[in-house]
Amino acid sequence: MIQNAEHLASHGTLLPDDASAADVMVWVARARECAVQRCELLRSECEAVDDNHRSELFKAFALPAQDLSEPGQLATLVGGAMRLLKPTITPRPEIWWWRNINAAIRSAPRCRKGAACPDCEERRPCPLDVAHEYVALSLLSDNAGHQTDKRINGLIMKTSSTDSYLGKWSENYPVVAGHVAYLCIKRSELAGEHGRAETYSGNARRLDLHLVEPHLTIRHAQTLLGQQHVNEAEAMIKGALIPGSTNPSQEMLRAALIRIASFRAQDEHRKRGEPDPQYVLLRRPADRVRTRRFS
Ligand SMILES: [Zn+2]
Ligand SMILES: [Zn+2]
Repeated sequence: MIQNAEHLASHGTLLPDDASAADVMVWVARARECAVQRCELLRSECEAVDDNHRSELFKAFALPAQDLSEPGQLATLVGGAMRLLKPTITPRPEIWWWRNINAAIRSAPRCRKGAACPDCEERRPCPLDVAHEYVALSLLSDNAGHQTDKRINGLIMKTSSTDSYLGKWSENYPVVAGHVAYLCIKRSELAGEHGRAETYSGNARRLDLHLVEPHLTIRHAQTLLGQQHVNEAEAMIKGALIPGSTNPSQEMLRAALIRIASFRAQDEHRKRGEPDPQYVLLRRPADRVRTRRFS
């Protein structure tokens, strides 16, 4: 929400195509003010940046240089930075940014009514909860911005997993690595390469990424349920819940817990030899018969 008419007026000037160092500084100073004011125009400003200026703007803007301690302020900055982030930035920005912003994201106060970032105001996921997914998506592409088999199958998911990028990233940045693994698995499945998807899934599990990436948690829970390990599946899903998170994948975990509870209730009725309660009301009472059935 824009608080200040003077700030709004400053959005009238765009970054010129032949921007000088001074123009870049003006843009960065205004973008920082956007974060303080939780300005909804920051997002479109960041989306409009072209590749010529992206690298210098990202480097100068994406980390909080001043105190953004009020709810919604850091989230506004992160919401802009994650949209500015692209694999074409030189040097590669993803791990550098995540290494430097990750702790601030985790300790930032949550957005609340009257003090929320523009995404929360519009009921989208809060950038604090989804920024790692933007980082992961960007990591999938090579320096030219293309998702290639060479990068994904040859480097990121290389099967000798100790020297794969995924193995390296999972040591210090597990939530990013978890989402990278999920995206690579999904990519293989969409290409009809189910064997490869299974291999990648196994790699991710060996790195414990199914404990931090909900899509992988659900995948592994389905396997456990198929083997009747209901308690284990339930405990794993509960462990992956993040209270208050606006990431839609958390909704999947909550829905899975409800399904497990109903599965368990049905199972107990079955063990006691009782009919499944959800069908009892639909059954015809035993003494109600049609006397002239074929008339
Ligand atoms: Zn603004
Ligand atoms: Zn927010």
